[in-house]
Amino acid sequence: MSIIEYRRMALDKLNFHGYKCNNCGVIRPSWEQYACGKCHSTKMTKINLSGKAKISNLGVAYYPPTEFKGEEPYLLAEIKTEEGLTTSARMVKMPLDALAVNDQIQATLRRIKIGDEGEIYYGVKFDKA
Ligand SMILES: [Zn+2]
Repeated sequence: MSIIEYRRMALDKLNFHGYKCNNCGVIRPSWEQYACGKCHSTKMTKINLSGKAKISNLGVAYYPPTEFKGEEPYLLAEIKTEEGLTTSARMVKMPLDALAVNDQIQATLRRIKIGDEGEIYYGVKFDKA
């Protein structure tokens, strides 16, 4: 993603949100803003999420995408937010055995990566609650 593209999307990246389907009521992740993955309705409403979540599955990234090379190994999790959204999440830097399934976690704003020209990208990661 270019810095121009990022700036356009920055406000969306800086708070933890999802989209609620106006038809069936299911909450979808932020990248599914145009259509509901369950009933295919295109009437979605943006909602802010509390950032409180529980870990439902936990894994370690040993072979990350190119942009995160050098940060491995790091924790990735499947989480369920208190609003009922199941999504994937990256944990802040911590020992790989610091979390377990069913642990409570909390969204936090962190540096995601440093771009080719030294620009800093921020976004949501998760930490122990
Ligand atoms: Zn729906």
